[in-house]
Amino acid sequence: MRYPGGVAALTGVSLDIAAGELVAIVGPSGSGKSTLLNIIGTLDRPTSGTVWIAGQDVATLSDRKLSALRAREIGFVFQQFHLTDGLTAAENVSTGLLYAGVARRHRRERALAALARVGLAHRAGHRPQQLSGGERQRVAIARALVNQPSLVLADEPTGALDTANGQAVLTLLRRLNEQGATIALITHDRDIAASMPRQIEIRDGRLVR
Ligand code: ADP
Repeated sequence: MRYPGGVAALTGVSLDIAAGELVAIVGPSGSGKSTLLNIIGTLDRPTSGTVWIAGQDVATLSDRKLSALRAREIGFVFQQFHLTDGLTAAENVSTGLLYAGVARRHRRERALAALARVGLAHRAGHRPQQLSGGERQRVAIARALVNQPSLVLADEPTGALDTANGQAVLTLLRRLNEQGATIALITHDRDIAASMPRQIEIRDGRLVR
């Protein structure tokens, strides 16, 4: 991947993530993690090379088809949660189904079920400001999972949390993986990466391990 201006942010990266995996993508700041995340998440198209998601070569898709694939197959979790302030936890989670063609009534049921999976059934009516940071991230994880995507991409999901809440989020991600979710976790934290079943290490835009 080359950015305008000639920065080669990723070079010779070849990587498979199989269904059911929990993998950490680890590297220091500037190593290319965000670039890789944007490419895996189909938010950016690579300048060369191929990306396959759920059996589809994404380069062959129009922007519209690509958006639909992204909505269906990929769940995103961000460091800063990115919840909508005016919406309850359940409403935030159901936004994960807006582009999935699910009827409104079923959206609510599915959102409540996803909140139960992250241990927040009792907080369904709370707004983000009424939740702790750890709870907000669990709502965001429920939103990422609600559509049963092929892959959950979590970008520094514990980066804005204290140690205890961070550990709780990591434990949750491990448990969701044991229940079948495929998760790629991007982190600069070697300890977090070391606690994951598979680690991919990136440095200066190359996979080194
Ligand atoms: P990380 O997420 O590991 O901190 P990035 O993927 O953000 O790394 O950056 C990898 C390299 O690409 C860095 O050298 C960075 O400066 C460069 N880079 C990132 N985004 C852009 C951009 N939009 N334009 C030019 N260079 C960029």
